[in-house]
Amino acid sequence: MGAQIIDGKKISAEIREELRPRVEKLTVQGNKPGLAVVLVGSDPASQVYVRNKERACEKLGILSVKHALPEETSQEEILNLVENLNRDSSIHGILVQLPLPSHVNEKEVLYAISPEKDVDGFHPQNLGRLVIGDPLYLPCTPWGVQELLLRSDVEVEGKNVVIFGRSNIVGKPLSMMLIQKAKGANATVTICHTRTREPKFFTRSADILIAAAGSPSLVTADMVKEGAVVIDVGINKVNDRLVGDVDFAEVSKVASRITPVPGGAGPMTIAMLMSNTVKAAEYRAGSAE
Ligand code: NAD
Repeated sequence: MGAQIIDGKKISAEIREELRPRVEKLTVQGNKPGLAVVLVGSDPASQVYVRNKERACEKLGILSVKHALPEETSQEEILNLVENLNRDSSIHGILVQLPLPSHVNEKEVLYAISPEKDVDGFHPQNLGRLVIGDPLYLPCTPWGVQELLLRSDVEVEGKNVVIFGRSNIVGKPLSMMLIQKAKGANATVTICHTRTREPKFFTRSADILIAAAGSPSLVTADMVKEGAVVIDVGINKVNDRLVGDVDFAEVSKVASRITPVPGGAGPMTIAMLMSNTVKAAEYRAGSAE
């Protein structure tokens, strides 16, 4: 018996449909949600991500404003743009597509975004609020993983969760989310990273294994406990094909549930971004729950 597929495409479509009436209500009130996306340079992957985000906005009736700047744009120009967007009342969410060119101080740019408009959830204020269990905006990819688990009825409470990856945008915030005393959390979490000795020692006891390392075929069947739930966040290009961090064919024989790549965690990120943007507009309109 192979593992059951957790269908991120289907679940993300459900989340977007749930947002539709909220967008309509805001629009009728004259508070149409608006997302500004800042893209610096011409990284092909970033261009695809930005296009997908614009399309998702269009489909939902969210205003999407793209600011495409040339590679050589200075730090000051980017900061000025962010400041203008912070003041622009038609914009509720600001997203700066990463990575930024090497001459740009990424941290300074992310810190300049008003926390109230930080729909990516990368501002230290929002990450800090996440850590203390009082989140405003959750970072989209980790939140998408948590929603995938919740909406697939995967029990997280009391489970051993192992996460591969300790980045500020996926691994670290996801670990903080899953240890909270909250719904869809209360797990015991271990993070494995590049300096972890014998990751298999940890992964063999994982009820839920989440790979967010950006390393193809990192997770092999011998590392996975029989019946574990495996979530693959990785996106890697191998011979012009998109693959995750998990050896899908082999791990499917051991796991009980698994996400594919593409069509697993990927589509969830954009759905959660839409959700944060709607929430931002509701906060401004004073109608947030
Ligand atoms: P990153 O490079 O910033 O971080 C990767 C982390 O994985 C590092 O902390 C590193 O310690 C760890 N790592 C790398 N190789 C490892 C190995 N062999 N063993 C153990 N740990 C290892 O990457 P990121 O931004 O966190 O993204 C991780 C992956 O998730 C990438 O493939 C990226 O494309 C993908 N991603 C997907 C989405 C999405 O929308 N689904 C969003 C963000 C990132």
